Amino acid sequence: MNGLRLTLSALVFCLAAPALAQQQAPTPPVGPDWSRITVKTTELGNRTYMLEGQGGNVTVAVGDDGVIMVDGQFAPMHDKLKAAIAAVSPQPVKFLVNTHHHGDHTGGNAAFAAGGATIVGHANLKTMLAAGTTSNVTGAKTPPQPDGALPKTTYTDATTVAVKGRVAQLKHPVGAHTGGDTYVYFADANVLSTGDTVTIGRYPNIDFLNGGSIKGMIAASDAYLALANDATKIVPGHGPLASKAQLAEFRAMLATARDRMAPLVKDGKSLDDVYAAKPFADLDAKWAVSEQAAKNFMRVVYISLKE
Ligand SMILES: [Zn+2]
Repeated sequence: MNGLRLTLSALVFCLAAPALAQQQAPTPPVGPDWSRITVKTTELGNRTYMLEGQGGNVTVAVGDDGVIMVDGQFAPMHDKLKAAIAAVSPQPVKFLVNTHHHGDHTGGNAAFAAGGATIVGHANLKTMLAAGTTSNVTGAKTPPQPDGALPKTTYTDATTVAVKGRVAQLKHPVGAHTGGDTYVYFADANVLSTGDTVTIGRYPNIDFLNGGSIKGMIAASDAYLALANDATKIVPGHGPLASKAQLAEFRAMLATARDRMAPLVKDGKSLDDVYAAKPFADLDAKWAVSEQAAKNFMRVVYISLKE
């Protein structure tokens, strides 16, 4: 039961809008029916795959003696993800890289680690998982994670993770979606996994309680635009596989949001003033999956600029 509660509190992190709607109901939030969720595998070339199930997108890079995996969704997805990986390779998962600490990306850590994977993440991510965190969206607390769910290998600026025949380049974008983000580039497949520093077809969350900022989000997008070319396949934290052109649209949206919010913050407007002014109304059609999501994005940009 405790495990289930943990999963549910993790669930409200990145699925802000539906979770908030559920929170306002008299009953506690209800998780998805895990038994009905399937994993969709998309081939990205050169033995590299994107997996979609429930939670953040997963990237899988198959080598000659092992698999490198980026993000592991929620704990109940472990067996389905494992089966999806087994369908493309008999090799074991040797490394599981965490793009950030949120439960829809790290929920699978303990189970994959128990299966032999080394969890890899930024040093700040390990600190946050070990200490427990509070959701900037709902205020829900995620308790400290057990040792088995924490990264065994951490880094601060950049590092690489390798299995025979495959190398993952890991880099830390400073203060972006959270303060412990990692993005991963597989040069041999021209695949870039961004975690939630990029979301496609929806506004990102910016976890200002745990080190995130709109400025860092824009800087991360700039780093990706410098790294990518027109053939780069971008696995966003949420949403479909994206191109460099779509990344540029995402970056433009972030910059517009910053440029419109900055004067409101400077003029001393309250958050309620901002909600009433609806400074992003024209962006909502493309990026807001719900009214609640639109409001949350105003809130995170406002607080991020105010601090
Ligand atoms: Zn997240």
